[in-house]
Amino acid sequence: MERTLSIIKPDGVAKNVIGDVIRRFETKGIKIAAMKMLQLTKTQAQGFYAVHKERPFFNSLTDFMTSGPIVVMVLEGEDVIAENRELMGATNFKDAKEGTIRKDYATDIEKNVVHGSDAPETAAFEIKYFFNDLEIQKR
Ligand code: GDP
Repeated sequence: MERTLSIIKPDGVAKNVIGDVIRRFETKGIKIAAMKMLQLTKTQAQGFYAVHKERPFFNSLTDFMTSGPIVVMVLEGEDVIAENRELMGATNFKDAKEGTIRKDYATDIEKNVVHGSDAPETAAFEIKYFFNDLEIQKR
């Protein structure tokens, strides 16, 4: 069993697609082990995206991520990091495959509806960033 962090970004929440994103996970047999809705502060967004702090889009990305509420989830399943990335589609929605979340809902390379951890180490960091042990269901 593997875990990953999923975020429905402010644009996804604003577009009323929380339910559709979760339905895609559940349809694939992915379990939701933790979930909450919150609005990030600028400092919290900067901490979450610290790996991108030298990127030209860092300021814009962290502004966007604080612009409204987000839904944060711990997903659980076999190979769930890769499976979630597959369901999400490419970072740039223009390159995303048909039927992926970003292809269906993203409007912009930055406003791309969902986040998903890209490796076991980032998943561990990102899950800890939002959830403590007591908030994650054990099965
Ligand atoms: P991800 O793992 O697919 O989310 O992609 P990255 O880790 O490379 O980038 C993190 C997030 O930064 C992306 O999901 C986008 O929201 C944003 N982003 C990535 N590339 C760009 C870019 O070239 N311009 C802008 N404005 N935002 C970007």
